[in-house]
Amino acid sequence: MMHVPLTVGSMLEHAEKFFAKKQVISQTHDKLHHFNYGEIGQRTRRLMSVLDELGAKKGDRIGTLAWNHHRHLEVYFAAPGIGAVLHTINIRLAPEHIIYIINHAEDKILFIDEDILPLIEKIQGHLKTVEAFVVMTDKDEKPKSSLKPLYSYEELLHTGDPSYSFNTDIDENDPAGMCYTSATTGKPKSVIYSHRGIVLHSYALGLADSAAISESDVAMPVVPQFHVNAWGIPFACTWFGSTMVMPGPRFTPKRLAEFIERFNVTITAGVPTIWLGLLRELEQGNYNTSSLRAVLCGGSAAPLGLIKAFEQKYNIPFYHAYGATETTPLATVSRLKSYQQELTEDEKLEERSRQGILVPGLEMKIIGSDGEVAWNDEEMGELLLRGHWIADEYYKDDRSENAFVDGWFHTGDVVTVDEEGTIKIVDRTNDLIKSGGEWISSVDLENAIMAHEAVFEASVIAIPDAEWQERPVACVVLNEGFSENDMKDKILEFLRPQFAKFWLPDDVLFFDEIPKTSVGKFLKRQLREDVKAHYNL
Ligand code: ADP
Repeated sequence: MMHVPLTVGSMLEHAEKFFAKKQVISQTHDKLHHFNYGEIGQRTRRLMSVLDELGAKKGDRIGTLAWNHHRHLEVYFAAPGIGAVLHTINIRLAPEHIIYIINHAEDKILFIDEDILPLIEKIQGHLKTVEAFVVMTDKDEKPKSSLKPLYSYEELLHTGDPSYSFNTDIDENDPAGMCYTSATTGKPKSVIYSHRGIVLHSYALGLADSAAISESDVAMPVVPQFHVNAWGIPFACTWFGSTMVMPGPRFTPKRLAEFIERFNVTITAGVPTIWLGLLRELEQGNYNTSSLRAVLCGGSAAPLGLIKAFEQKYNIPFYHAYGATETTPLATVSRLKSYQQELTEDEKLEERSRQGILVPGLEMKIIGSDGEVAWNDEEMGELLLRGHWIADEYYKDDRSENAFVDGWFHTGDVVTVDEEGTIKIVDRTNDLIKSGGEWISSVDLENAIMAHEAVFEASVIAIPDAEWQERPVACVVLNEGFSENDMKDKILEFLRPQFAKFWLPDDVLFFDEIPKTSVGKFLKRQLREDVKAHYNL
């Protein structure tokens, strides 16, 4: 067989040739843009020539601090297109983490959305390697800023060469991208994505039994482009010629609902908090969402109640998926096998609320205290992964040693697996609650509590206990119209038939909001502090 390198640039070249008329609809601060892949291709080529002019070389890191829009998409292809490395930076991280990340990656050029400029101006004195800043704005003139040298994206593009060629001197194992984890656990760690990894991951997103992304889709990635490259969706959609809808900066659930209706979105993806917000919006407004064939949900456990509401109330197919920064990220998708269609509706829902089975191309092992666990859905163990788009180390970080052992990535996720090979995430290793020598899954309790009609969100954490070592406490945000009176008892009553007695939370505390990480996951570290302060522990 021929050996043709798998490169990110070749995906856009394919779209330019075969899908030149297909659209990318992009919301920026000031307006809604319509470009086709022919135009996106030309603009990307201009941008590659600009990067060349600015002195970017093969292997250099190009950072982005931006929302989901067409300019960000162009950097997705231009940076790897010249052989440089696309480094998407999470704009919601604390400034000290952003400083750490930019210096650690040694970013040479930063592409920044206009509303993020003030953040970078504040920290510019700490940035050791950045040689140029480019502001991504719709405005003709460059905004006033203390960043130097600062260029305007569109002005630069005017000077660029629309026929500039993709670098052909790229090995498929060369780095194309890098992402830092969102730091739910300590200092951000980074992985490098190879061209090969990104291309093979894009193939996986097109498989009928994973996300089935195709030309006929209108895809709206809600998951930020700075969160594991919007789960790789922009790469796959460009390659396959899907219409793309980029929801832009600081979107609201209302904008998402409106875009779904207006552009006939067929597939969208995001974390559970996004879908909880959209659900509220759908309940208040009157939207036509019948175009949707799939909502992909991952990043943290999708509560069963959420899946049920989307599917049964709004007839929107809802797919639970699992992955991590280290896995590019798609690792599992929850779909029923053909013979599982025989199950009862409740059994089907239960099955689909699990994280699912591995996407072809990946392998797993689940290691418990006595080696590999049986597929009996009882024994718990840590999930280990390997495969074509799984990282094999952290970039310049000695924490690699614990996470990547003998060719396997140790996910830090504790799972059970049933006889179908379907995994269920029981907890993060750090969030499992150990009570009197037994394990309690915070995720199971959260899912059960969130199925109560009064509950909007619930997060369960451990508090230290003299007798039992740890005990669970539930932190709950109520839906509008429900009062805290008697609610603790009602929630415990609701849980009682579902769990062993020792699983029941010792207390239910009510919050206006659960603290969240920069990508919308429950920030349990913070919540533990808040709860300890509440009890004066
Ligand atoms: P961080 O580890 O900093 O949160 P990631 O965004 O890489 O950064 O998160 C990966 C982790 O998110 C996984 O290891 C897992 O714990 C959690 N996760 C991802 N998808 C799911 C899911 N569908 N259900 C439960 N947990 C999930």
